[in-house]
Amino acid sequence: MSEQVKVSLLGATGSIGSSTISILKQNCADMPEFKVVSLTAQNSVQELAKLAIETNAEFAAIGNENKYQELKDLLAGTGIECASGETGLVDAAARQCDTLVSAITGAAALRPTLEGIKQGAKIALANKESIVCAGVLFLSEAKKYNATLLPVDSEHNAIFQVLDNHKRVEKLILTASGGPFRTSTIDEMREATPEQAISHPNWSMGAKISVDSATMMNKSLELIEASYLFNTPEEKIDVLIHPQSIVHSLVSYDDGSVLAQLGMPDMRTPISYALAWPNRMPVPGLERLDLGRIGSLSFETPDDARFPAVSLARKALTLGAWAPNVINAVNEIAVDAFLNNVIGFMDITRTTEKLLDRFASDEFGAMTDPNSFDDVFELDGLARKLALEAIKA
Ligand code: NAD
Ligand code: MG
Repeated sequence: MSEQVKVSLLGATGSIGSSTISILKQNCADMPEFKVVSLTAQNSVQELAKLAIETNAEFAAIGNENKYQELKDLLAGTGIECASGETGLVDAAARQCDTLVSAITGAAALRPTLEGIKQGAKIALANKESIVCAGVLFLSEAKKYNATLLPVDSEHNAIFQVLDNHKRVEKLILTASGGPFRTSTIDEMREATPEQAISHPNWSMGAKISVDSATMMNKSLELIEASYLFNTPEEKIDVLIHPQSIVHSLVSYDDGSVLAQLGMPDMRTPISYALAWPNRMPVPGLERLDLGRIGSLSFETPDDARFPAVSLARKALTLGAWAPNVINAVNEIAVDAFLNNVIGFMDITRTTEKLLDRFASDEFGAMTDPNSFDDVFELDGLARKLALEAIKA
C-alpha cells in the first residue's frame, strides 16, 4: 500500500494514544503511509507538544485552557497550529482526516468524536463511554454521515473480526480478566486502595479504565457497548472470566461453532487492525502468541456478589437508553472520588446502583430515552451532580 492515510488522534498522551503513535511511526514497506493531522490531550502539554513535533502534526489541542499559552510557546516556530478548551478538541476532530482515533477517557470524548463522525471519517473507537452514554443516537449519527465505526476495545475488536454471519449468531461472549481482585474476598475488596486497584495483572492502561476493570464496571460498559455496536440484546451477551487475557472474545453460532480471536494482551493489535481496516498491517515489535509456552488457558463464571457491575449493565439495558447514560456518568464521578480517597472501593458500584435506582424511581416519573445529544448531555450533567451530592452526603 502506498497511499497516504490522514489520521487524527484524540487523547494522544494516554495509554491508547501512545500505542497508536508507535504504530503511526512504524515504517514498513507494505503498509500505508500515515499522515498525522491533529493530536489532543487534556493536561499533559509538554508531552502533547513533543508528540506533535515528532509526528509533524498539523494541529494540536489541549483541553485545559490554562495550558494554552504554554502549548503556544512550545510550538512556536514549528508551523503547528494550536487551540484549547472543548472547542479546541472539537476543532481538532473537525479537521479533514480519513481516520479519527477516539482515545479520550470518559464521556468527554462524545462531542469531539461526533465531529469526526460528521465528516464521515472512519472512527477507530477506543473510547467506550461515548457509545454507552449516547447509544442508538451515536450509531444513527454514524449511519447518517456514512462514518464507519471500527471498535478498538479488544473484546469488540475481536468480535468484529470473527462476526461472519450476523443472522446465525447465538451468543456474543465477552472475556474479562477479572482484574486485580479476581480472587480477593469481599473484606479485602472493601479495604482496597487506589494503588491496588490500578495495578492490573495483564494490561497497562489509564487509571479510570484500570479501576473499572477492578470493579468489573469495565465489563459492564463493554456489555452495553457490545449490545449497541452489534445490535444484540443483553440476554445474548455472556461474560466469561479468562485470567490470561489471550482469548479476546468469542462468537457462538447456531450450528455450534464458536469463533474466537486470540493474541497477546497488547492494544497495538486492535489499534493496528482498525488503522489498516479492511486490510491488516504488520506490527513488528509485538510479542507473538506462543500457546505451547503458555500451556493452558482457563475460564470461570463471574461472581455476581463481589462484582455486581455486570448485572447493573443488564438492568440498565432493560430500563432503556437513559439508564446506561446515568450509570456511565455516576461511575465516572464515583471512580474519581475513589481515586481521591473520598469513597471506598465497594462504594463505586454501590453509588452507581443507588443512583440508577433513584432515577428509575417515582421521584423522576417515567424516564424517557434521549431524543437528541442535548438530552444526553443534560442527563449526563444531572447524574453527575446528584452523584456528587450523594457522595458528599
Ligand atoms: P489514559 O488515561 O491513559 O489517557 C486518556 C487520554 O485522554 C489522555 O491523552 C488525556 O489527556 C485525555 N483526556 C483525559 N480526560 C480528558 C478530558 N476530560 N477531555 C479531553 N481529553 C481528556 O486512558 P486510556 O487507558 O488510554 O483510555 C482511553 C480510552 O480508551 C478510554 O475510554 C478507555 O476505556 C478506552 N480503552 C483503553 C484501553 C487500554 O488498554 N488503555 C483498552 C480498551 C479501551
Ligand atoms: Mg476492553
